[in-house]
Amino acid sequence: MKSEEFYRQEMIKIQIAGRGIRDKRVLDVMGRIPRHRFISGYSLKEAYSDKPLPIDYNQTISQPYIVALMCELCCLKGDEKVLEIGTGSGYQTAILSYLAGEVYTIERLGSLSSSAKLIVEQLGAGNVRFIYGDGYEGVPSASPFDAIIVSAAPEFVPGALKAQLSEGGHLIIPVGREGTSQKLMIIVKRESFFEESTEGRVIFVPMRKGYE
Ligand code: SAH
Repeated sequence: MKSEEFYRQEMIKIQIAGRGIRDKRVLDVMGRIPRHRFISGYSLKEAYSDKPLPIDYNQTISQPYIVALMCELCCLKGDEKVLEIGTGSGYQTAILSYLAGEVYTIERLGSLSSSAKLIVEQLGAGNVRFIYGDGYEGVPSASPFDAIIVSAAPEFVPGALKAQLSEGGHLIIPVGREGTSQKLMIIVKRESFFEESTEGRVIFVPMRKGYE
């Protein structure tokens, strides 16, 4: 039987580096984080395959390439403060915890938030704050953030998130209607304006208001 290390290195080679991700820290961290530990009921081969997978409560763990792309787009060097919206399985949270200095992550489903916390802490990350709440609000008390990465799709960019970016901070967010693909937007806060660009189309679960 092939080892988890084998499947992880194949994932990096073919899906991540092979598709143009160049950030060495992203490649290195994704080569070490055990993606299979964040999901249950899948074989190792499936856990490292090139697709999102269903997790509990009708949510998904994102496709490895999309996680890599969004992390690379944050342009992290190591000492930043990052906000993640949509903790989900906690897979991307764990990756961000190695790429940045401090991570805040918000999830609107309490049980997902607690199971993600358990596994991320078991893996040794001590720099993550897990928040059970509504990501539309961000975390004003901990702002500004050097990067905000949103893993669920709103129809419009939430103003509160733009307002919580630091100077030069990056907001990476899929934007579009439910039931369609979304455009992956990169919004950078400059001194007197927001610089916007798009990076192709993606498919995320919808960002919902409020929390359960
Ligand atoms: N990166 C995660 C993706 C999880 S799917 C992973 O790879 O596991 C997106 C998550 O966003 C879901 O868990 C969903 O419950 C959550 N979500 C949706 N709307 C939200 C909101 N307003 N605030 C916080 N989390 C939200």
